[in-house]
Amino acid sequence: MSMNCMFCKKTVVGQNPVTIPSEGLAHLHCYQAHQALRRTFQSLDIAALSDAELTELKDLVLAEENARQRGQEDDIELF
Ligand SMILES: [Zn+2]
Repeated sequence: MSMNCMFCKKTVVGQNPVTIPSEGLAHLHCYQAHQALRRTFQSLDIAALSDAELTELKDLVLAEENARQRGQEDDIELF
């Protein structure tokens, strides 16, 4: 098994690594950062999407954002 952190790729020797089942070793702080920044949304693992699927998701998000911004502008005009 590699003695390098699976996130930052630096050695974990002597730095109290955590073992991630079926993945490898990591610094505790790197693992915690990874957990915090996990690219999942609800049950969707965004990192597992193909490029085409990711583009589709991005377009959907942008379209939704635009729709909401338009909605907010309409609200402001009411006052
Ligand atoms: Zn690390």
